[in-house]
Amino acid sequence: NDSRVLKYVEDFMANVKAKNPNEPEFHQAVYEVVDSLAAFILENPVFIKNKILERMTEPERIISFRVPWIDDQGEIQINRGYRVQMNSAIGPYKGGLRFHPSVNQSILKFLAFEQVLKNSLTSLPMGGGKGGSDFNPKGKSDQEVMKFCQSFVTELERHVGPNTDIPAGDIGVGGREIGYIFGQYKRLSNAFQGTFTGKGLEWGGSPLRPEATGYGAVYFAQEMLATRGEKINGKTVVISGSGNVAQYAVEKVLQLGGKPVTLSDSNGYIYDPNGIDQEKLEYVKLLKNAIRGRIREYAEKYPDVEYYEDETPWKVKCDIAIPAATQNELNGEDAQTLVENGCICVSEGANMPSTPEAIDIFHKNKILFGPGKAANAGGVAVSGLEMTQNSIRLTWTREEVDQKLKSIMKNIHATCVKYGREEGNYINYVKGANISGFIKVANAMLAQGV
Ligand code: GLU
Repeated sequence: NDSRVLKYVEDFMANVKAKNPNEPEFHQAVYEVVDSLAAFILENPVFIKNKILERMTEPERIISFRVPWIDDQGEIQINRGYRVQMNSAIGPYKGGLRFHPSVNQSILKFLAFEQVLKNSLTSLPMGGGKGGSDFNPKGKSDQEVMKFCQSFVTELERHVGPNTDIPAGDIGVGGREIGYIFGQYKRLSNAFQGTFTGKGLEWGGSPLRPEATGYGAVYFAQEMLATRGEKINGKTVVISGSGNVAQYAVEKVLQLGGKPVTLSDSNGYIYDPNGIDQEKLEYVKLLKNAIRGRIREYAEKYPDVEYYEDETPWKVKCDIAIPAATQNELNGEDAQTLVENGCICVSEGANMPSTPEAIDIFHKNKILFGPGKAANAGGVAVSGLEMTQNSIRLTWTREEVDQKLKSIMKNIHATCVKYGREEGNYINYVKGANISGFIKVANAMLAQGV
């Protein structure tokens, strides 16, 4: 009953907070999961007796290390590096590296915890981990980034491997960084092996890995919309962020006949009432990936475009929203505005972009809401496919990988529907994703003993 569920959640969270002080992002991620799992767990006492959730919220291992490097002025810089190896019940640790000044243990633990359930949802044999550094790539030269990456992986090398832990990219870590990291790793380990994913196509990468997260988030939106007989075609789409995920979300929306109208970065957002077309998108890719400029420059280049400094794009009227920037970028007020403006579907390209208040509002208003661990799982899914290709020493075609990505996203949607259906036939995808992601990991932990 309700009071038993409430008490379980309350006691669990009190314990998590006492054990992990000053880690608000980690508490937030755990709360979301415990809250939606509590009733299910209470009905299945074997998980309680074996303290599965207590064990899942304690990382198997956290590595933290010094990353010294020398900048272009010849000065010594010191950053902190981390790898959180969260759970290896269903496969080797797998998850990205984030380079951003906000990176700390709380953020990496929240991301690693999300990753465990996300990777389980993909149906591929991957455990969960996350790592990174408080290094800020913004404004750094290529040479500085290379030196930092080399120092970072010099320490990380002993903790990772193709059957142990397979990092990839996340915020601040793209193709360039994975290249520098892989190059140094190869020298240190004296082996050409698939320890990192997101590699270049010519040296072991998978077709479609750069596109996978953004494409996948749109495929997931497509699946959610289909449950109500709706399509992307003709819909106005508000997208935040302007990195890898946002860029390829725009691309897939365009291919499906939708109209993307916004992009953003940490300084502000652009609103293009004419729509971001493929040509403008190519400029965004150049601007962000090669010039490493700011999204403001889009507004200077194209007519009719408005730029809003220090604001997020959630005030723009839309049918579909794809938050693809970072955690907690969409709050309760934003959610209310989206609902009032007629938004029917939110598909999270980023990890935990919506605050708990925002999620509550989406649920109360029966919005189609796809949480990150389901909606953005396409990225790590294609990373899993990259691992498979490396193991069999073959490369699949773009079409083959896209086919597999589509079917993985369809499966994730179906399993969310199976476990997330509530009264009135509303699908609570948060609950669906958390329960189905949990079951596989929990059963593996039960089988493997304490
Ligand atoms: N960083 C991505 C995520 O949040 C991808 C991780 C990976 O490919 O290992 O899922």
